[in-house]
Formats: sequence, C-alpha cells, structure tokens
Amino acid sequence: MSRGRRGTIFVVLVALLVYSIYRIELHFAAQPIPAVVTKAADAHRAVSTSLDASLDRLLHDRGPAQTSGDAKLVALTFDDGPYAVRTPILLDELADLHVRATFFLIGHDAEHFPLLTERIARDGHEIANHTLTHPARFETLDAVAVASELSAGAAALERYVSDPAIRTMMRPPHGRYSEATVRAAQRAGYHVILWNDDPGDWRSVTPATLAAHVEANASAPDIILLHSGRMTTIDMLPEVVARFRRAGFTFVTVGELMRRLPVSVIDHPAKMSV
Ligand SMILES: [Zn+2]
Repeated sequence: MSRGRRGTIFVVLVALLVYSIYRIELHFAAQPIPAVVTKAADAHRAVSTSLDASLDRLLHDRGPAQTSGDAKLVALTFDDGPYAVRTPILLDELADLHVRATFFLIGHDAEHFPLLTERIARDGHEIANHTLTHPARFETLDAVAVASELSAGAAALERYVSDPAIRTMMRPPHGRYSEATVRAAQRAGYHVILWNDDPGDWRSVTPATLAAHVEANASAPDIILLHSGRMTTIDMLPEVVARFRRAGFTFVTVGELMRRLPVSVIDHPAKMSV
C-alpha cells in the first residue's frame, strides 16, 4: 500500500473516531433529567454528568413500554412568590378551572405576603420549599448552606401554613443544582422535584407559544415547570387545562402524583400527544 493511501485511511479512521465520540456526547447531553430525585435515590447516578453515571443511565434507564390510564396525571408547579398582584389572579384562575397545583414558595416572599401564603393553602394547593432567599447560584452552595436555606425557608413558610411538603419537597432556585446540592437536600430530608417539561414561561413568550410547547411536549405523567408571577402563564392556562382534560388527564399535586405512581414511571414518561 502506498504511503499516500495509508495516510488517507488513517485520516478517515480518525475522522470516524472523532465523529463517534461527538455522537456519543450528543447522546449523553440529550439524556432527560429525572423529574424527581427522591431522598432515597443515588444522587450520583441520578444527576451526575460523569461518564460512569451517564453510561449507567444509558444502559439501564428505559421508560415503561406503555402508560396505563393511571399514568395520565399532570402536576402544574408554580415557582417563586407569592406576588402581590399576579398570585391572586393566578389563584382565581386555578379556582375557576378547578385545578389544584403545587407552589414552590420563597420563604422571604411568603414573609412579605403572609395573607397570600395562607390563601394558597386555603385554596387547596400544595406548598413546598423553594429556599429562604432564592440564591442566584444555588448549585455552588455547600451542604451547610443548602441545609440552612431549606430549614430557614421551611420555618418561614410554617409561620403561616402547614403542609408536609414544606419539609419533604424542594425545588432548586433557577432549576440549578449539582450532585452535591442534590445530596445535601436529600440529607436534609427532601425529595428534589425537577420537571418533565420546562416551557420557558420565564422568557418573553406569548400565551399561544407557551400553550403550544406544553401540548407538544406533554407526557404521561407530566410535571410542568411554571412561574407564579407571569401573566402569559395565567393566560394560557384555560386552553392548556382544557386540552389535557380532553385527552383524559387528571390534574394532581406533585405529592399526589408521587403517592399514586412509582418514581420510575414519573422519571421516564412515555411520550403522549394531547
Ligand atoms: Zn425560582
């Protein structure tokens, strides 16, 4: 074989190798996050981006082949607040729609609006922990800081309302977490509640865009990440709720979802059109 030809083969092989690695990395990057990391789960296996954890998930995590009627549950979750103007409008809308949701409240905001905090509970919604101060870079906090944000956040909420979820369910601010912060939350007694769908209602989008995203990405069961302070979110609710109900879904809180279905089903939903 000529030297030129060997060189060409070598270049082709290297290109193939680089392409394969690129594809494998793309695959890992596309892996869905777990919607729920329970307090008993192996945090490394659940959320680490290391090669061994990624491989483990790739080889062993398979969604259920089908979803039974029982799995057609959807949990709307609202982060942040409460807020003076938008939260009451959101609560009115949810009451009109007869939907009970899960509110991840910020301890400091609850202290600013105790009556609103009480109303959320009185309206039948679930209240869970979104930390005391909503730190900007939550994923960089050490275990002591995570535990203190959660316990102080819980204490603030419990001045006005009582809900077991305040001490058992948390969502990291900005949805930012690391293996270490997940582990710290677990040690503090918390399930880390993430989501199946983040339609991005914190960006400037229209209600129609938001509703289209939620519908296109609907899964069964479904935990949908929304925010408490956005009019677009409130405006899209009637249409989204109607579409889910027409498709046979029942609206539940996250706590109810976890009582009714195994976490493996929540974390690996089969895609379902609505
Ligand atoms: Zn938040």
